[in-house]
Amino acid sequence: MSIIVQKFGGTSVADSKKILAAARKAIRARKEGHQVVMVVSAMGKNTDKLIALAKEIHSDPPSREMDMLLSTGEQVSVALMAMAIQSLGYQAVSMTGAQIGIKTDNSFMKARIQSICTDRIRQALDAGNIVIAAGFQGVDDEFNITTLGRGGSDTTAVALAAVLNAESCEIYTDVDGVYTADPRVVPDARRVKRISYDEMLEMASLGAGVMHSRSIEFAKNFEVPVHVRASFSDEPGTMIVSTPESRNRAVCGAAIAKDEVRISVRGVPDCPGAANMLFQPISNRRIAMDMIVQNVGTNGKAEISFTIPAGELSATLKALDEVKKTTPSAFESLSYDDNLCKVSIVGLGMEQQIGVAEKMFQVIADKGINIQMITTSEIKVSVLVNQAEGVEALRTVHDAFALDQAPSDVKELAKIEPISDAEKVRMINRIEHMEDLLIESIDLDEKQARVTLFDLPQTPGLAARIFKRVTEADIVVDMIVQSSGDHQTNLTFTVLREYADKALALAKEIAAKLGCTAPTECPDVDKISLSGTGMRSHTTVASRILKTLADGGVNIDMINTSEMRFNLVVAAKDGERAVALLRKELRDAIVE
Ligand code: ASP
Ligand code: MG
Repeated sequence: MSIIVQKFGGTSVADSKKILAAARKAIRARKEGHQVVMVVSAMGKNTDKLIALAKEIHSDPPSREMDMLLSTGEQVSVALMAMAIQSLGYQAVSMTGAQIGIKTDNSFMKARIQSICTDRIRQALDAGNIVIAAGFQGVDDEFNITTLGRGGSDTTAVALAAVLNAESCEIYTDVDGVYTADPRVVPDARRVKRISYDEMLEMASLGAGVMHSRSIEFAKNFEVPVHVRASFSDEPGTMIVSTPESRNRAVCGAAIAKDEVRISVRGVPDCPGAANMLFQPISNRRIAMDMIVQNVGTNGKAEISFTIPAGELSATLKALDEVKKTTPSAFESLSYDDNLCKVSIVGLGMEQQIGVAEKMFQVIADKGINIQMITTSEIKVSVLVNQAEGVEALRTVHDAFALDQAPSDVKELAKIEPISDAEKVRMINRIEHMEDLLIESIDLDEKQARVTLFDLPQTPGLAARIFKRVTEADIVVDMIVQSSGDHQTNLTFTVLREYADKALALAKEIAAKLGCTAPTECPDVDKISLSGTGMRSHTTVASRILKTLADGGVNIDMINTSEMRFNLVVAAKDGERAVALLRKELRDAIVE
């Protein structure tokens, strides 16, 4: 019999009436002939209330006891849900994380799932029960109760769907699906019928808060079809699967992350290990850095900029302060700007179309909005703009890419072919623990060249003008990285080597016209791309990569990161050796 997992979030079980409504949804699926596993969150704002209560008692509550406390929220919900189903005449049994057999590591409040033993659930299902599983919790090797981090019930649901090889995982929530942008900010935003795992991962981390990012990583790694739908209506919702909604569209969605801080570190020695020295102490504090941009330096000095969530500013400054104290030559100066926000576009189709980034720069420039920093990766372009202009920039790009209109080629999703149980087991067994970092490939692209423009003036529309020229000259651009210091901007991009001369000539012309420092070109660089799942949520990945290359004496020219990629540009002479070093360091995670 096929299994369906249904997850109900806090708002969907906020009172007894809602619990009964959720119970009816499960019973309906049961009547349609499925075995049903429900995963439920704590009722309404109960988790918040428990946290507040703990803080009244202890200013920094011990995390083991927090997990003991927070797990009770879900325990209340599962018991009431089982009663609700029984009151409607069906059999049900509730289970805590430990009873289900969800084993996690011992990092309280942000535990990761290691394995799930399905015997007990299967027995209960086969005995005719609807199984009600407590979301967000597990147990470590020492029987301590652990929780998976805020919003973690999504992850429980997708993980259970993976190990049970469920036909689908339905996420019932207070929104009726995934939108092209946050509909509260962009009134024209459209609900998409379907979105790919990769796109959803990027959207989630870029500020579209529909689901817990880790749950999408699970869904991707174990190919679980996820169906996001409204609890209080029968709207069709959105399917998160491996294929995108449209093959023709370059962009599937846009997102804004407010409260971003950009830190710029100047005068970093342009030598192996320099970036590592800055990032190691930051990632040791488990601060997730985003938009890491290392620009090629003038006079042997590089500039490194990156963004962090505003809440991590003081911890990050403290870490960098310590670096400067122990190694005064690590960098010359640093500054930060906390009045920024990040606007991004995402789409799998971007890889096939040229001019996508340029169009984004252009429409933002047309509004007179200055772009302070740019990073591109295979499936997203992010720019930093002033906070006050963020919403306008978001609406502008949403409009420019016609995201409000459904693409013409959306086909109904064919029935998803079920994966065999044996194949599912193979997928689960290829890594030791279910939520481990998973690297699918480390690729070396030996056909790139790099061009850098220095000391560009900070005026709106500059990037748009430059890339318009580049596109008109038929030069195919790969990575774009722009970082701004307090007064000036450096812009680096890579092109296929055959375009190197043409690109440099163009850059010289632009620089001459603007009266800024002559551009440089490095005709032979290699790009190394690591792709996988959890590249960012495993906060130590960046520092492991950087440390490995630092220890190996490899100098890094450019870095950019996304949810499933870590891209590096190094001198061509170092490319092969760098890949070999990374393969060795990351061998546990590689599943090629
Ligand atoms: N109750 C937990 C929270 O509020 C888990 C969840 O809702 O997913 O974060
Ligand atoms: Mg919740």
